[in-house]
Amino acid sequence: MEYPVYLQMTETENVVAIQGPSRFWEGQKLGNQVLQHDVVCRTWPERQRVMDMLESEGPWSRISKEAFDRAWDPEMTEPDWGLQEHVELASRTTFGISSKARWFARVTTLTQLRGALAWAKEHDVPMLVLGGGSNMLLHGDVHALVLQVDIRGVEVLPQGPTGAVVSAGAGEPWHEFVMRTLDDSWHGLENLSLIPGNVGASPMQNIGAYGVEVKDHFAWLDAVRIEDGALERFDASKCQFGYRDSVFKREERGNWIIVRVAFHLDRESPLRMGYGAIEHELADIPEERRTHRDVSEAVIRIRQSKLPDPAVVGNAGSFFKNPTVPSTVAQALKEAHPSMPQYPQAGGGVKLAAGWLIEQSGWKGHSRETHGVHDRQALVLVHFGGATGQEVWVLAQDVMASVHQKFGVQLEPEVNQIKLHPTD
Ligand SMILES: Cc1cc2nc3c(=O)[nH]c(=O)nc-3n(C[C@H](O)[C@H](O)[C@H](O)COP(=O)(O)OP(=O)(O)OC[C@H]3O[C@@H](n4cnc5c(N)ncnc54)[C@H](O)[C@@H]3O)c2cc1C
Repeated sequence: MEYPVYLQMTETENVVAIQGPSRFWEGQKLGNQVLQHDVVCRTWPERQRVMDMLESEGPWSRISKEAFDRAWDPEMTEPDWGLQEHVELASRTTFGISSKARWFARVTTLTQLRGALAWAKEHDVPMLVLGGGSNMLLHGDVHALVLQVDIRGVEVLPQGPTGAVVSAGAGEPWHEFVMRTLDDSWHGLENLSLIPGNVGASPMQNIGAYGVEVKDHFAWLDAVRIEDGALERFDASKCQFGYRDSVFKREERGNWIIVRVAFHLDRESPLRMGYGAIEHELADIPEERRTHRDVSEAVIRIRQSKLPDPAVVGNAGSFFKNPTVPSTVAQALKEAHPSMPQYPQAGGGVKLAAGWLIEQSGWKGHSRETHGVHDRQALVLVHFGGATGQEVWVLAQDVMASVHQKFGVQLEPEVNQIKLHPTD
């Protein structure tokens, strides 16, 4: 049996998506209200109901995914997506810097999302998509509709004897999603444990840590075109993943809202322990007894010891990307600075450690009272309280200029710089 199976109930507008033998999603239309139930079948009568619905005969008919999506057409349901005005964003980003959104809405369904897009188009208002706010620096107030995409739900489509395509709504918190896949023994994402943010943003910069990137397990994503609300599926080649990069940060920047992301996971996915301090963390566990959960826990411990917790001090993780330079440049740098860490890349060029360059330029622990450079990890800019986004950006530029002056290497921010200032 291939899941999900989509059904329309006879003589109603109600639809059902059966995600597996023990889970289904049900949508019921009541006037212009939509009732949604995500049902996990723990008892026999519920499981029997799923088995019945999988029979070909009954007061339902099977429909395609497209027909299922169409059943949620915005024309049929009055959008009710709660537009708010002048909303403070400090608590919605991990930098915690004060900034007001001129308009703000949290959307939980495709219908609401399309309603918000139509409103923004009608009023000629720019849009900023917000996930967990862990990879952005707001330079000031945001004269735009800030749209928090909180579409949820996890679906599992078994494939082959040990694999599955596991997809999640854009609004699922990334770490919780990774934990859920591990709970269900779907392996592959364990090295990406504890990365802040939501699933929807994970392909944006092809998040990565400890030798694994999203692209290594990526199956597909569904995205809604901002221009006309059309839903389109992107496979890996269409996403053009690179180091902390994808087509959504380049040619397609600002054109799409990602609503669902799917990953190839496998019960027998190999353990990846060769990167960073994971092997050292697991030294007490005999190699043959190590599990994916052990790797995840090791990654969590390492991250907690190295990176500042945004709940304690505002930050957006690594502020700069690790730069890649041509091998001739790397060689000259190595001669001048023999202790410089260098990582030759498969496709040519040599990657340098931005944190090392910043530290050697004297910035580690630098403080400007309200903000500064983290004292244990020079790659992270921190907000102690009371700074503006502009001030943090000035510091970032000072760091970049000084690294360039000392090493001739141009750093590039990894964090998205948001400049949608008010004009009214
Ligand atoms: C302490 C800390 C550690 C971190 N460690 C890592 C790490 O190890 N590896 C790593 O790769 N990153 C790391 N990050 C960065 C960050 O966690 C990731 O980039 C994460 O994927 C951002 O998710 P988010 O939901 O918070 O995105 P946001 O910050 O909300 O948005 C980031 C960008 O994506 C866009 N966007 C968000 N959601 C959508 C959507 N659904 N559709 C279209 N566009 C969207 C936004 O407009 C914005 O341009 C770290 C951050 C912190 C604070």
